[in-house]
Amino acid sequence: MDDIDLDELVSSLTFREENEAIKSYQNTVAVACPACDSQFDDLVVCKENPASLNLSKQLDLCVGSADDQVVIFTHKK
Ligand SMILES: [Zn+2]
Repeated sequence: MDDIDLDELVSSLTFREENEAIKSYQNTVAVACPACDSQFDDLVVCKENPASLNLSKQLDLCVGSADDQVVIFTHKK
């Protein structure tokens, strides 16, 4: 697996929200998940270590790291 280029990835996505713990972006242009190659719904960048996600739905998650930050790709079930 290639390293995740976060800047490039984020430039294709739509910024959605940011709080103290996380920053999230919505995948509105059908970018493929670098981990599993299927399209993901949201990208979450964890700013805190550790960070809580407080997910409201049941999701499949793929996880990677970029620039010493944990990034999470969510897939709706
Ligand atoms: Zn994935």
